[in-house]
Amino acid sequence: MTHSLSCPRCGSQHLTTRDYARKAGRAVGTVAGAAGSAAAALGGAEAGATLGMIAGPVGSIFGGLAGALMGALLGGAAGCAAGSAVGEQIDTHVLDNFECNACGCAFSQQHLS
Ligand SMILES: [Zn+2]
Repeated sequence: MTHSLSCPRCGSQHLTTRDYARKAGRAVGTVAGAAGSAAAALGGAEAGATLGMIAGPVGSIFGGLAGALMGALLGGAAGCAAGSAVGEQIDTHVLDNFECNACGCAFSQQHLS
């Protein structure tokens, strides 16, 4: 499948993808998602605490923790996926994502068509 690609300079098919933007996007997305869900996490904590109140003060603490944790985890995972998808687009369309193992030249998929 990857054999359809070859280096525009030397024609070698020994290529690697660099995925710089994808990796960066994933990291940034995870942090941004977790941070962005802080408000939602607080809302979850509140809801969890309210529900936990039924089970008493201890239930309130655990309910709050569980709600906050769930919010942060979900936000981080969503941010990671979104950042990865955005980074992949940048890799493919903006950066020279392919690197030739034979001559070291970098190029993007667009140059091949
Ligand atoms: Zn090459």
